[in-house]
Amino acid sequence: MIIDCHGHYTTLPPAVGEWRDAQVAAVERDPDHVGEKGTIDVSDDQIRESVEGAQLKLQRERGADLTIFSPRASWMGHHIGNEHTSQHWSQHQNELIRRVCDLYPSNFAPVCQLPQSPGAGLDAAVAELERCVGEMGFVGCNVNPDPTGGFWTGPPLWDRYWWPLWETMCALDVPAMIHVSATCNENFHTTGSHYLGADTTAFMQALTSGFMSDFPGLRWIIPHGGGAVPYHWGRFKGMAEDNGWDFAGLGDHLFYDTCVYHQPGIDLLVDVVPVENILFGSEMVGAVRGIDPVSGHHYDDTKRYLDRAGLTDEDRAAIYDGNIRRVYPRLAAQLEADA
Ligand SMILES: [Zn+2]
Repeated sequence: MIIDCHGHYTTLPPAVGEWRDAQVAAVERDPDHVGEKGTIDVSDDQIRESVEGAQLKLQRERGADLTIFSPRASWMGHHIGNEHTSQHWSQHQNELIRRVCDLYPSNFAPVCQLPQSPGAGLDAAVAELERCVGEMGFVGCNVNPDPTGGFWTGPPLWDRYWWPLWETMCALDVPAMIHVSATCNENFHTTGSHYLGADTTAFMQALTSGFMSDFPGLRWIIPHGGGAVPYHWGRFKGMAEDNGWDFAGLGDHLFYDTCVYHQPGIDLLVDVVPVENILFGSEMVGAVRGIDPVSGHHYDDTKRYLDRAGLTDEDRAAIYDGNIRRVYPRLAAQLEADA
């Protein structure tokens, strides 16, 4: 099988954005606004229409079988409003993901966003993760390492603040993709600098703290090819040796997707990072939607690069399938049950 571990529902029917706009307007009028979850009126046909011409079409054209599918990352917007804002919004977003997966059970597998909020505890995030995995069959979650949206004033990922979430993930045996949302700090471009900076930051927080050794089953996917990590592998390894940080130990916990949009980048990734730590991903439909005028192919058609990366059949199968089943055991169990 060819499993894409990084897809987002970026093509939501208009009613979803309208619900969110009204919610955002309400918290702009009153920052303490609680509101109600209410309903978002979207039909099954509208959901079909929203993915048929986009994620599903591209999946078929590019020859992938299944996409691990999560809410639109830049819309998570954890910095907007208060904890109720995030809670209602996350529940709706996750329920929409469940509906996509119910309509196309062999094409999509669900991953949830969490109702994080700056300054709030993680009780709501833990409860939503338990609901999504326990009651709705989700196989993983996205965790925003910076719910402030580009200001990084919250506690780092090794802080005990986060531990209830790591404990719950271990208990449920689900991984997290460490994935920021849009930035409201205009120093950063959301998908250009904030995303890649956050990927590198998550890696460094894991490396310098060594905290993951306290959570033997904790697994993170560092998206967007690991930010600067593969390119600067020697820098990080050298710093680790100077400082006594356990660089090799991270291999049990950190995995890198292949959302790198040119051949030399993919070649470097598979050359530098151990194959068992690489998961196929394309992040479509995402940050880069165009066609490279030189190659004539979509930049985010990462399968093309992997197929040309000089991998053995065994290594390619690990990246496309085996590693992903290992990191997402609940997905592996669902696939085995369906086989
Ligand atoms: Zn993403």
